[in-house]
Amino acid sequence: YTGKNSERQVIDNIRNILVKDYYSHPVVVHENSSVYDAIVIMFTEDVGTIFVVDEDSTLTGVVSRKDLLRASIGKQELNSLPVAIIMTRMPNVTYCFKEEILVDVGCKLMNREIDALPVVEKTENGLLVIGRVSKTNITRAFVDLSNNRDGIVEEQND
Ligand code: ADP
Repeated sequence: YTGKNSERQVIDNIRNILVKDYYSHPVVVHENSSVYDAIVIMFTEDVGTIFVVDEDSTLTGVVSRKDLLRASIGKQELNSLPVAIIMTRMPNVTYCFKEEILVDVGCKLMNREIDALPVVEKTENGLLVIGRVSKTNITRAFVDLSNNRDGIVEEQND
């Protein structure tokens, strides 16, 4: 037992956590949905990022809080403005697969300076959206890892 080995073990434990262990349900809207509807869904579903899909549920884009705020301070009528006009669209969307290592997805979030990304599966039509990984999912994984190691599961209150 050496310091080096235990450090290796910590890294191994972290790299054993996969996207499929921690991803959430995706919140999606159709690309013809209005910006107004996307804002309502963002509040009711309590997410910061919404994925935009076509009729086959394949990924076409992503809208974030700032995208919706930017559209809202413009002069456009939000009820008749489709999200497709303001979204970040494919192929510029960063995504991941459920077999990927969770911290590698954390690395993508840091590098691209984004809060969340869609989990997808390849189909003949395109990329089917099956989940969502946000900074919250990654935080939860680290909290669980620490709790398991210490054998403590209760939350700390101040
Ligand atoms: P917020 O706008 O709430 O700060 P983000 O930092 O995630 O949220 O988004 C910043 C910008 O990056 C937005 O224009 C958004 O459309 C874009 N974006 C968000 N997620 C992704 C992603 N997975 N791939 C590509 N672009 C994204």
